[in-house]
Parts: sequence; structure tokens; C-alpha cells
Amino acid sequence: MADFLERAQAAVGDDGRLPLGRMPAWDVFPFERGGLRARPLTEFADPEPDRRQDPADCRTCRALGRDTQVLHLGERLAVVRPDATSLPFVANVVAREHELIEDLDDAGHVELGRLLARTCAAVRALDGVGNAHITKWENGSGHLSVNVMARPRGVLQLRGSNLPVWADMLPEIPQDEYDARAEAVRAALA
Ligand SMILES: [Zn+2]
Repeated sequence: MADFLERAQAAVGDDGRLPLGRMPAWDVFPFERGGLRARPLTEFADPEPDRRQDPADCRTCRALGRDTQVLHLGERLAVVRPDATSLPFVANVVAREHELIEDLDDAGHVELGRLLARTCAAVRALDGVGNAHITKWENGSGHLSVNVMARPRGVLQLRGSNLPVWADMLPEIPQDEYDARAEAVRAALA
């Protein structure tokens, strides 16, 4: 890690910041280049803090306890949705227990692949959806969550890895619209 940080420090400019990369030139980048600057790269930790946080503070555990948010229950994994979204639809393939992807055994890996592919197909089949993008993070809680995010059809500026950044700025969709799509995904996964 020392080597990595040394190389990074050697790349910063006079203002102590990394230069902007290629992304601001992308058509799908959400921000204009003017005024944009990188945060100074200052934070590092070795050893890193434990990613496993208390299940009592876990949004994924909370979603698993709510029938309205649960879309499908599998063996070791489940499919849930956030309680609100600004995209046409978001589904999360999650562990039923409060655990990390590293905790899954081979059967869990197989289930993850199958459930992910089925969820992606169900989301893509929804009305008004142009494509579905998949990401994995743990929402700061240490609970495996692979996210299937729907891009609105025809809104090509939202394509790709910046979709969650756009989603953060867009207004939430009406709840009845979101609920109707949830029923369709639930039926497709049954
Ligand atoms: Zn959890």
C-alpha cells in the first residue's frame, strides 16, 4: 500500500489534488468540467476497520423484515427492493443472513448467479426500462447486496457507471408506480 500511495502522491498537482481523469469528457458524466476538482487523497487505514456492522443498523436486514420490500426468498439469498427509488426500479439480491459475499459457499455462489440473472431479466422486462445495471456493495453495513438498477428507456445520458450518481439527484418516482413494478418482478421471480 505504501507504494500505491507514493505513486498517487507523485501524480498530484501543485494544489495537492489528482488531475481529472477521462470521465468528465464522457457524454454520460453527470457534471460539467468547469469548477470540478478531486478531493485530496488523504485517508488510509491499515489495518482497515471491520466491514461487518451491527445488524440493528442494517437497512438490508430491515428490508428483509418487511413484506412490501421482499420480492423473493431463495435458499440462502433473497431479492428485496429499497423503500423508495428515483429510478424506474431497483432490486437488491441480498444474503438472507447478515453476511458478506466472502461468507457464501459454492452453493451460495450458484444461487447468486442464478438469482442475479433472473432478477436482471425481470427488471429489464418492465415497462419503461431500457437496460439494467448491476453493482455490488454493502451499503456500509457489511450485508451482501448486489444491486440491479433499471435505467429509464430512451434516457441514454443515464447509461453506465454513473447511473447511481444520477439517481442520487433525481426525484423519487411515485410509490404506486414503484409498487406496480414490484408486483411484476415478484411474479416473474415466483
Ligand atoms: Zn444486515
